Amino acid sequence: MIGKELRSQFPIFRDSQLVYLDNAATTHKPQVVIDALTDFYTRRNAPVHRGIYPLAEAATEQYEAVRMQVARFINAKSPKEIVFTSGATNGCNLVAEAWGLKNIGPGDEIVVSVLEHHSNLLPWQRLAQRVGARLVWLPVTADVQFDSTNLDSVITDKTKLVALTLDSNVVGPMDVAKLKLITKRAHAVGARVLLDAAQAVAHQQIDVQELDCDFLVFSGHKVYGPTGVGVLYVRQEVHACLDPYEVGGGMVYEVQQQGSVWRAMPQLLEAGTPPIAQVIGLGAALSYLTQVTTWAELKTHETALVNQVRISLEAIPGVTILGSHKDDQKSHLLSFSSKKYHSHDIAAFCASQGICVRAGHHCCQPLHDFLGVDNSVRVSFGIYNTLDDVHRLTRCLSQFLR
Ligand code: PMP
Repeated sequence: MIGKELRSQFPIFRDSQLVYLDNAATTHKPQVVIDALTDFYTRRNAPVHRGIYPLAEAATEQYEAVRMQVARFINAKSPKEIVFTSGATNGCNLVAEAWGLKNIGPGDEIVVSVLEHHSNLLPWQRLAQRVGARLVWLPVTADVQFDSTNLDSVITDKTKLVALTLDSNVVGPMDVAKLKLITKRAHAVGARVLLDAAQAVAHQQIDVQELDCDFLVFSGHKVYGPTGVGVLYVRQEVHACLDPYEVGGGMVYEVQQQGSVWRAMPQLLEAGTPPIAQVIGLGAALSYLTQVTTWAELKTHETALVNQVRISLEAIPGVTILGSHKDDQKSHLLSFSSKKYHSHDIAAFCASQGICVRAGHHCCQPLHDFLGVDNSVRVSFGIYNTLDDVHRLTRCLSQFLR
């Protein structure tokens, strides 16, 4: 079940003509997620890991059950590999602080690409500046995919981390076969691999063992869950190489006057009271997604919508679609620029017709520089979008852009 049939399960669309095509920024919430949050605050609110009364024990059980659920969702070997964060940005920063500062030093290299969202770039840029390391840019091919042909010259003995996206928020999914070659090369020189799954998580099955990554991040709000919660996966073998980032309650085993003993992962990286309700909401969102559709059905549905937009845009002079969008390529989003109009003007016209699209550089300035444009309009789909949404968008764009 997908598209029109499940629209009524999302309160924001009830009695509304809203055409929401900014799912890469954030997704709307089904009633079950809202109910899970309300239910927690109404009937179950309590701290986790501390209280020994039934309400607190039940909250802890519910919270830890989501950790196990997330581990299964991304095929982690153990729930100990799952850290709850506040989102993908927080996850990358956490890796930079907790692992990077301890394991990256002067002369070392961190491999990134122009395809990265600023959230998977700035933590590495700042880390490199702090420790005297250097960013190395993995080449990107003309069809805006990672270039995996000359890896030996890019990923070398100096490389300590390769941080790449699984799915670009401007041009869509990356070729997983190439990512695997890159990961293999990284591991051959002893480097760690971080994958940014902020976009991927709502559109493709993620299997951390199959991807063979060391770190992976995503945000709850992009996968129909609440804001304020995200996931950082850390492969068990890396746990011994971590220092805590934030210190305080919850992450410490014993505190003495002159020193303290830290708890093991995942508590090591979860200082303070965690976002309990949001974690429970995330659990409800993941259950919902896996119950209402399959990855194959979702991919077919979203690709069909993207292709309709692409065909319509290709007929408009002066419009350039970013990245390569071939008929057989699967994607859940598409970005384009116009010779005649600024993206903000296009998005403002869409907004006047009740259509939400994103305009600007989408926190991907290096990618826009690489593509030779300042800004673009992004149309991104989710589980509840329909052909009707596409028709309203394409009518609107054809009217404005001609
Ligand atoms: N990476 C990618 C590819 C993204 O699209 C985003 C969100 N736009 C992020 C990272 C950061 O996610 P958040 O803002 O939820 O931390």
